[in-house]
Amino acid sequence: MSHRPGPPLPLPSDQDATGRTLGDEEIALVSEAIRSGTLTSTKGNFVRKLETEFAKAIGAERAIAANSGTMALHAAFAAIDPEPGDEFVTTSITDMGALTPILYQGAIPVFADVEPRTCNVTAESIEKALSPKTKAIVVTHLFGNPCDMTAIMALANARGIPVVEDCSQAFGATWDGRPVGTFGALGCFSLQQGKHVTTGEGGIVVSNDAALARRVFLFVNKAWGYGDPQPDHYFIALNGRMSELQGAVAVAQLAKLDGVVRSRVDSAAYLTRKLNGIAGIETPWQDPRAVHTFWKYCLRVDSSVIRGGAPGLATLLKERGIASAPRYIQKPAFRCAVFAEQRTFGNSRWPFPLARPEAVDYSAERFPGTFAALEGVLVLPWSEKYGAEHLDYIASAVRECAERSKM
Ligand SMILES: *Cc1c(COP(=O)(O)O)cnc(C)c1O
Repeated sequence: MSHRPGPPLPLPSDQDATGRTLGDEEIALVSEAIRSGTLTSTKGNFVRKLETEFAKAIGAERAIAANSGTMALHAAFAAIDPEPGDEFVTTSITDMGALTPILYQGAIPVFADVEPRTCNVTAESIEKALSPKTKAIVVTHLFGNPCDMTAIMALANARGIPVVEDCSQAFGATWDGRPVGTFGALGCFSLQQGKHVTTGEGGIVVSNDAALARRVFLFVNKAWGYGDPQPDHYFIALNGRMSELQGAVAVAQLAKLDGVVRSRVDSAAYLTRKLNGIAGIETPWQDPRAVHTFWKYCLRVDSSVIRGGAPGLATLLKERGIASAPRYIQKPAFRCAVFAEQRTFGNSRWPFPLARPEAVDYSAERFPGTFAALEGVLVLPWSEKYGAEHLDYIASAVRECAERSKM
């Protein structure tokens, strides 16, 4: 017998005040920034304070703020200074902001396949994508779940290839007790609206390598040598600076990060306990060495058990007011026009004409993990503001919808 469910319970949303921790602390510091009359970080104190505190919190020598996560990644890639046609091994499931900056730097993204349970790259999949032209390896700790950094760093160190960690979704996440972002030569974070720490738009790069950190700083400053005896614009670069307004918000937000992370991790553990044992539904997998900090909470849906698979379940959840995202980014990055049709600069296709044919071979059979990952994943909306009533509501909705769809 089915009973009519009650009206949907409104869930806190990371797109507005209901699901974010923005409050009086941010308002106070933004007011202070405005009253000071100094909104540029070249003269103000908030962005500098953010950089100092972020570096300290994560245990890195240096942190450099940027005006977006995409810019943070761009600066990190520029710091590595690839020759045109050099290859960056990266992942097929990530934000486009982790990919297009590689092209802007004249390098070729080469996609490694992912492991379907986590949607993350592995040392094995990276190794298959390496070539003599590999200049860097970029890993994304997707959804807040760390990649296996033991195996990846062993591979990279053996080959002498620098690693960039995209930690945009993985604030507070650790591998083997150590924060992600501190394994590779450079770690990058996004402070976009939906991330653990938000300034609306924003980013930050961390590094223990003074020379790389210097190049990151220069890249977001038009490569102008501030403070040097004879400054110049040393190389091609952009203005990617964070403003003091963002910096003020970020300083206040950073003080709340531990609480945000704890809430997201605890809520995830609670939901996982409630969802265990539903036929056709797998709760998030994590390695015992990993602390996953749940930017999103993802289910894996078995379409041989649940009618319509992840999209089918998403349709039913929507009727309960739960806006989940089947397939996450819809299609692998290499199926987007920028890669599939090589839409770059005018009609030049630059830098793709420099690519080895194999580096741009996006045939589906080379990416079985990627297609399996997207086919099964169902991304649930997530927030640090969830309480037991929200989690109980989500759990019972998932359970009822899964049972209704059982084949
Ligand atoms: C959000 C995100 C980015 C891009 O950050 P923006 O701040 O939106 O430019 C890059 N990589 C990943 C994995 C992200 O989640």
